[in-house]
Amino acid sequence: MSKNTRVPGYMQSKAARNARGIIGDREIRFKCSLQNTILDVLRGRPGWQEVPGPNFQQQNMQQNSRPAAGSQTSTQPPDGKGNKTGSTGTTPSNTQNSPATSGGKTGYQPVPPIQRNSDGDWDFYWCDREWLHQNYDTMFLHEHQKILHFRNHYELTRKNLMVKNLKRLKKQTEREQGKSEGLSFDFHPTTYELPSEYHIFVEEFKRNPGITWIMKPAAKSQGKGIFLFRRLKDITDWKKGEYQPLTDTTREVPETYVVQRYIENPYLIGGRKFDIRIYVLVVSYNPLKVWLYRDGFARFSNTRFSLDSIEDAYVHLTNVSVQKNAPDYDPEKGCKWSTLRLRQYLSAKHGSEAVKKVFKGIDNIITKGLQSVQKIIINDKHCFEMYGYDILLDDDLKPWLIEINASPSLTASGKEDYELKFGLLNDLLNVLDLENRLTGKEKRIGGWDLLWDDGPVLADDGNMECTTNGTSVTTANSFLGCHNDRKRQLREIYTSAQAIKKT
Ligand code: ADP
Repeated sequence: MSKNTRVPGYMQSKAARNARGIIGDREIRFKCSLQNTILDVLRGRPGWQEVPGPNFQQQNMQQNSRPAAGSQTSTQPPDGKGNKTGSTGTTPSNTQNSPATSGGKTGYQPVPPIQRNSDGDWDFYWCDREWLHQNYDTMFLHEHQKILHFRNHYELTRKNLMVKNLKRLKKQTEREQGKSEGLSFDFHPTTYELPSEYHIFVEEFKRNPGITWIMKPAAKSQGKGIFLFRRLKDITDWKKGEYQPLTDTTREVPETYVVQRYIENPYLIGGRKFDIRIYVLVVSYNPLKVWLYRDGFARFSNTRFSLDSIEDAYVHLTNVSVQKNAPDYDPEKGCKWSTLRLRQYLSAKHGSEAVKKVFKGIDNIITKGLQSVQKIIINDKHCFEMYGYDILLDDDLKPWLIEINASPSLTASGKEDYELKFGLLNDLLNVLDLENRLTGKEKRIGGWDLLWDDGPVLADDGNMECTTNGTSVTTANSFLGCHNDRKRQLREIYTSAQAIKKT
């Protein structure tokens, strides 16, 4: 073999490769099922090359017919969790930027032609869940390959299963550590699965006359099929229409719903309700290794909160996919606040101690959620998952878990949202580090902080920089809503990793 022959990373001897099974010295070949910010990030990453995937031809055609710079359609409205809808909300990224520091641009620009790779093999696949379900069981993965989603991610992301798993871990914790430990699981509203738990629900309903309940299809998203009710009659009407009795064999199995206690006292800002979208990255379930992104956002409803109009989705559902259809929705102003702004607002209003408690509560929700499925998820070193947690605060500042998404929307609703998502995804690739540029010991990579590494991760003293009001507020390595100086931090860790590797 000549001196100049490049040997693919996965064909090198184990010693020649990094112990973390990473590609060494060639371009990284990726596939992507989505056509939004993630595709921009992947295409803009130096040394990464797209290979034909199921959407490749379609993507190429759309890319070639993109509108000119400054076009009105340069950013698309968000589509909730429906990232696979074929929206072309992509914006070419600056291929001159390093993967570590590129921040993305908005507005369309000419894109360099995609180089085809004839063998169709890939190193990294941002696939959709349907593709994974259809192919995972029959697919062989090479040492170095990385793919989005764990095989049975729905254990956490289907509303009924999430609650079931949390209830089970709570019971186990109470058995093993006592009742008081079980209290740390009281962060999701009382929930029953329908139709299977209908009778227990009716008993609970009768015990609490007058309160509001919310009905949600277990496996749908973007607020679809959700309604609020206070009378059992409303659900009996629903039962007649939607829920088909199992005894009738000619009919399909009824759709599973969850019925959940509605949080009637949400924390309001400007009279409006909001929930918080938080990004969490799991790179391994066994041992559990979890990263938390500093930036997220609060999604506000467009209409002032009131319990008088429980049929009004614009008042009660904070999904952007719902709110953007409100008659007075302003796409320029949008309905989002960054978590930094939210944290600053809460700190100014309630003080840093109260805010510290809120964010500690959120950390607890994140880790307990993942622990509840830790033994169930099929762990695979090739898989990773980026979850979108939805958290609602009540007027006591108690955080409630509403749901966990395995495909949080990556389509940007505007410039700021695009920048957040572009940085988030670029940093996710920095954490996975297929380029093998880091040491593997980092506790912070760009905007991602290592929250759990087979146990809680504590912040280094020098890392106590959560300074919305000038003081450090936590000892956990958790900085949600804190300043995200990702570019500076990335420069520092890459320099220091290079120095360590040289010695
Ligand atoms: P979807 O997957 O369809 O988005 P969610 O469970 O996230 O369903 O609910 C949609 C929205 O409804 C949430 O973003 C939140 O604003 C509101 N919501 C859901 N459950 C509750 C609840 N128990 N109490 C108050 N509001 C809720």
